[in-house]
Amino acid sequence: MRIGVPREIKNHEYRVGLTPESVAELAAAGHEIIIEARAGAGIGASDAAYESAGATIAPDAATVFSRAEMIVKVKEPQAAERAMLTADHVLFTYLHLAPDPDQTADLVKSGAVCIAYETVTDATGALPLLKPMSQVAGRMSIQAGATALEKSHGGRGVLLGGVPGVHPAKVLVLGGGVVGFNAAQMAVGMQADVTILDKSSTTLERLSTHFGASAKVLYSNRAAVASAIADADLVIGAVLVPGAAAPKLVSRDMLATMQPGAVLVDVAIDQGGCFETSRPTTHADPTYTVDGIVHYCVANMPGGVARTSTYALNNATLPFTLALANKGWKQALRDDIHLRNGLNIANGHVTCAPVAEILGYET
Ligand code: NAD
Repeated sequence: MRIGVPREIKNHEYRVGLTPESVAELAAAGHEIIIEARAGAGIGASDAAYESAGATIAPDAATVFSRAEMIVKVKEPQAAERAMLTADHVLFTYLHLAPDPDQTADLVKSGAVCIAYETVTDATGALPLLKPMSQVAGRMSIQAGATALEKSHGGRGVLLGGVPGVHPAKVLVLGGGVVGFNAAQMAVGMQADVTILDKSSTTLERLSTHFGASAKVLYSNRAAVASAIADADLVIGAVLVPGAAAPKLVSRDMLATMQPGAVLVDVAIDQGGCFETSRPTTHADPTYTVDGIVHYCVANMPGGVARTSTYALNNATLPFTLALANKGWKQALRDDIHLRNGLNIANGHVTCAPVAEILGYET
């Protein structure tokens, strides 16, 4: 199959659909890979690296789209990219169609087969192509929080691990799912004093077994949150209620009970945030202060570590990319119900029921 990878054109997107190593795997399976010039520049992968992995370099996106049968990307196609999609294309990328009627209409019109990373499932019902980005954001939340705790960034001047003879920082993780688990792992590794709150008994058990005495694992309710934020130096917001806006666990009034210069990192900001005072920020200007409490609310945290994120994403996507290329999309989807769950649009129809329902399409 001819597989094309355009350079990402969404603002501040540095990731790329395929790493040179993934290109080598696809080339070894007999496929032809066409990469747009400088597509890997944001992760330090040169055109020469792609060429030696077996790809050919195309001068522009138009050449990639006109030659490729399958387009592999990271972000949803932008309007200029959607205009180049045809009924002969398979598109494999993050789409997030539900809040995006314009994109959905364009993809329906194109006739392309559009498979979304975010709705591919696994045997446990989880979303394996979203998981790597939650792992990245969870781990990154601790380094972002540690930086914000420094005086020059508005924080209270506390070192996460302390030093011999001085208390470590208190880190509170709200929600112990993928983000929260990875955040707690990093905080424990830095020798902070870590507490994790969650509501799910299965998750509480898993966290407790994993962390043992190195983290306190507690049931999450209003009283537990109110008591834990009062002496926390760093609070990580990592809750998710599937299909709903994040619950607001910390109100503005509650900020007055916190230590001045404490830091809130709201990873759940992409679902509206779990602190009442959260609003989305960017990597260029990541923090702001409300009532003396520093807020970090970057909505696309993985973009800040584009190289790690690209490799993490490729580790998860490559088996599916290979299946699509080796078998063709129809057979690959027939053979794998989890990949089939990724199908959002085909032959001019919205095939993903929740997207169709929200945007008023017939499935
Ligand atoms: P997850 O489903 O693995 O974990 C969420 C956890 O929250 C679950 O364990 C659940 O039991 C718990 N929870 C729900 N309500 C709670 C409550 N009231 N108190 C305590 N815990 C509660 O989800 P995840 O993959 O860890 O993602 C968490 C959030 O991070 C999501 O909103 C996700 O979209 C977001 N995210 C943001 C970025 C970013 O760049 N900002 C990147 C990746 C993920």
